[in-house]
Amino acid sequence: MNKFETDYKVTWCPGCGNFAIKTALHQALTELNLNNEDVLIFYGIGCSGNGANFTKTYSWHSLHGRSIPSAIGAKLANKDLTIIVMAGDGDSFGEGMGHFIHGIRGNTDITYITHDNKVYGLTTGQTAPTSEKGFKTKSTPDGVIEVMTNPISLALSANCNFVSRGFTGDVKHLKELIKKAIKHKGFSLVDVFQPCVTFNKINTSKWYLDRLYNLDNTKYNKNNIEIAFKESLKWGNKIPYGIFYEKKNKNYGDKILEVNNSTKVRNINKLLQEFK
Ligand code: SF4
Repeated sequence: MNKFETDYKVTWCPGCGNFAIKTALHQALTELNLNNEDVLIFYGIGCSGNGANFTKTYSWHSLHGRSIPSAIGAKLANKDLTIIVMAGDGDSFGEGMGHFIHGIRGNTDITYITHDNKVYGLTTGQTAPTSEKGFKTKSTPDGVIEVMTNPISLALSANCNFVSRGFTGDVKHLKELIKKAIKHKGFSLVDVFQPCVTFNKINTSKWYLDRLYNLDNTKYNKNNIEIAFKESLKWGNKIPYGIFYEKKNKNYGDKILEVNNSTKVRNINKLLQEFK
């Protein structure tokens, strides 16, 4: 029995990578022994956002690209909650790009899972920031002119302390990745390659399977940011997935406590007495 399943009928297209992400997420939450009421998941707008109906935890459906500030606010209000953000690639690296960078800078203890299918699915197939140069869609009939956003190197350059890439064709690995990301005490990124079977006929499961290799199965050193950055730039016939970089660091909640403990005025009631 999966205590994180709901009774809602899943409306994603058959074969969509969202199913694998949902499975990996449910398995990760179960294996971490988390209770439904201890988890709060923020969703953006997009096909991935419909996941709010399909996972039985507290959930918050935010505005497009605005999940991160809401999630940070929730974590500061209740540090005991496990906070996860589920967002699409358009959501995260289009409208939400600024929040992505500033969320990393603050290092609040939240897990950011991006459904990276390189296209806008919910709005019926337009180019996304992670679409490859030359990718043809109804919004770019002659091909994308801009260069593709690389979420991994972006996160590394902003000093993210847990940077990883998952793949929906390897659910077991994705589950372990999500578990590690949740256990990491700080902002953690899991950028997940997934097919959009309806609107992206280029980056299919086979396309990924022909190219991906798992860093976690090699002697890769995930504690060296220079190596991580170099690895993150690999694209083409061989593309890495797994944990690129991991480092322990104080998170925003820890730092706020330190500031509060060092401040001389600790009791607001005592302070107010002075004005009576
Ligand atoms: Fe999945 Fe694409 Fe269908 Fe959306 S449009 S549910 S991303 S396959």
